[in-house]
Amino acid sequence: MTEYEAAILDVDGTIVRGEELLPDVTDGLAALEAAGCSRLLFSNNPTRGSSYYRSKLEPHGIEIDPAAVLTSATVSAEYLASTHPNERVYLVGDDRLESILEEAMVDLTDDPDAADVVLGSFDSDFSYGTLWESLQALEDGASFYGTDPDVTIPVDDGLIPGSGAILAAMEAVAGREPDAILGKPSSVAATAAMDYLGSDPERTLVVGDRLDTDIELGNRAGMTTAVVLTGVTDQADIESAAVQPDHVLESLADVETLL
Ligand SMILES: [Mg+2]
Repeated sequence: MTEYEAAILDVDGTIVRGEELLPDVTDGLAALEAAGCSRLLFSNNPTRGSSYYRSKLEPHGIEIDPAAVLTSATVSAEYLASTHPNERVYLVGDDRLESILEEAMVDLTDDPDAADVVLGSFDSDFSYGTLWESLQALEDGASFYGTDPDVTIPVDDGLIPGSGAILAAMEAVAGREPDAILGKPSSVAATAAMDYLGSDPERTLVVGDRLDTDIELGNRAGMTTAVVLTGVTDQADIESAAVQPDHVLESLADVETLL
C-alpha cells in the first residue's frame, strides 16, 4: 500500500484547464481513491465556492464531497468570520466572493471609514475610486488581508491580472503589506486543509502546477510535493526556481507512479 494517506490537489492547471478537464486526470483521481488516499481539492480561485467545482467534476464521473473542496474564497470567508467576528469588512473583490463572504456571515461595508478590515482580491471592476477608498480604510488602521497572491491568471488566450496585482496597488498606496494573504501557500490555508484531512503531514501528498503556491505550501508544511507540467510551470522553470518539488509529473494522470 501507499505511504500516503491523503492528497491535496490543485484544480486549475492540474485537474482542469479553463472549462475543460485535462486528459486522463480521472485516472489519477481514481488511482488515489484506489490507494485509500483521502482527496482534498484546493483552488486559489477567489471567485468560486466549493459547490462550483463539485458540479464541474460530477459530469465526468468524479464524485466530490463539497466539504472536500477549498478555495481561497472559502478559506478567507471562514478565517474572517472566526478571527474578526462583529467587524466590518471593506471588500475589493468579485461579486461571487461577496456572496461567499455573506454566506459565511461576514459583515460587509461599502463605507471605507466604517471598515475594521480590508480584504483585497481579484476585481475586474477595479478602479481609481476603489483604490482611493481602500487607501482611506487602510489609513485608518484597518486590518489588511488578501485572498491569494496570484499576480496573473492564465486564460485561453494569455494572462489576465489577478489578486496579487490588485494587492500590490493597495499595498503601494497604503505603504504597508497585507497582514496575511489567506490562500495557498499561507499557514492559514495549510491549517484549513489539514483540519479537513486530519492526516499526518508526512503522509500527505500535494499535487499542483504552481511552485510558489502549491509546492511552497507543501514544502512549508512538511508534506511531499509533486509539480505537474499541465499548467503554468515547465521543466526550465523548475531548474531555475528557488522552490523545489520532491517529484515532477507530466500530469496528474501519472500520480499512480508515486503511490
Ligand atoms: Mg493551478
